[in-house]
Amino acid sequence: MTALPPGAMIGILGGGQLGRMSALAAARLGYRCHIYAPGADEPGMQVAAARTVAAYEDQAALARFADQVDVVTFEFENVPAETVEILSRRVACRPGLKALAICQDRLQEKAFLESIGVPVAPWRAVRTEGELQAAVAELGLPAVLKTTRLGYDGRGQAVLRHADDLVAAWARLAPRPLILEGFVAFKGEISAIAARGADGALAVFDPAENEHRHHILDISFAPARMAPEIAQAARDHVAAVARGLDLVGLVALEMFLLPDGRLIGNEIAPRPHNSGHWTMDACVASQFEQHIRAVVGLPLAPAERHHDAVMRNLIGPEGMAAWPGLQGQAGIAPHLYGKGEARVGRKMGHANRLLPRGALAGMSDQEALGPLAAIAADAS
Ligand code: AMP
Repeated sequence: MTALPPGAMIGILGGGQLGRMSALAAARLGYRCHIYAPGADEPGMQVAAARTVAAYEDQAALARFADQVDVVTFEFENVPAETVEILSRRVACRPGLKALAICQDRLQEKAFLESIGVPVAPWRAVRTEGELQAAVAELGLPAVLKTTRLGYDGRGQAVLRHADDLVAAWARLAPRPLILEGFVAFKGEISAIAARGADGALAVFDPAENEHRHHILDISFAPARMAPEIAQAARDHVAAVARGLDLVGLVALEMFLLPDGRLIGNEIAPRPHNSGHWTMDACVASQFEQHIRAVVGLPLAPAERHHDAVMRNLIGPEGMAAWPGLQGQAGIAPHLYGKGEARVGRKMGHANRLLPRGALAGMSDQEALGPLAAIAADAS
């Protein structure tokens, strides 16, 4: 396809910070964004050229939106598949329905990862209490019980350590369809992000090493401090995901790193990802720009980084308390999302610390964090 010309209108479903940062990247390339979301006060709305405030099920609003945009993308994978199906009849949607369907359902996601050769934790579908008991008998404990849909940041899941944990976990999570996963005793969590253009070209960022607090991403170190062959395996895995999904857009693959160096695929997000925010300051084209490039049909930019980077999220009141101290410091790039109230656990912004390329490998976490070490993730 020929690329959409500058000035074209990109429709984005979802008004959160990922939509906001995508719209800012689009503006830098001369495009306009029309954001469609249920809330008028969302971060993306503040920077959009056009807005639709409507429910994702509002067919009349969707039809009007489709007629006003040249292409549609989304900033979160839980947008109802039917919404994208309705829009697809009138306008190109990138990524498409296949990527969305697979990433909305943990069972499909696991089966897909296996089908393209990415190792996953052993898993069983669980629809009844009897199936839960059978699955636990087969996979053993500890294990992790998760809802197949709409889970994020640790919500919709329970770690089962003892046989007594089953009843409470079942009571909390059922009757939703569930998946039981074998517990992975990982050494670390990493993620890799790939953009895939309309022409099939790939741009793969260096994998990042992620630390969570209270189930929310706290810090990403990029590049991940691990052997080059493991980093290459992570890149190969996310590239296989992008191809296998027939993706035009951006995709993140979250993986567990085992003590023996093997990688286990956990979750796919067909959109910009929090663990890729470091690319905003450490690469010529950020993950958001690559996403927009793919969606409008522009060639992707090379994904190499010109700096090493550490990203720390600014979460809740503690994150905002750190904001003044991050200003005007060498090598620190602070970002805010324009959210009103700094509620506990809410992602308000993030800060990137740039380090000379190659410096991170020899640093402890504290050294790498520098001034970002003082930021407290909230204690909820
Ligand atoms: P998820 O919603 O699948 O990204 O899971 C949230 C977090 O729970 C992950 O980042 C891990 O820290 C942990 N987790 C999820 N699945 C497993 C597993 N099978 N074994 C061990 N830890 C897990």
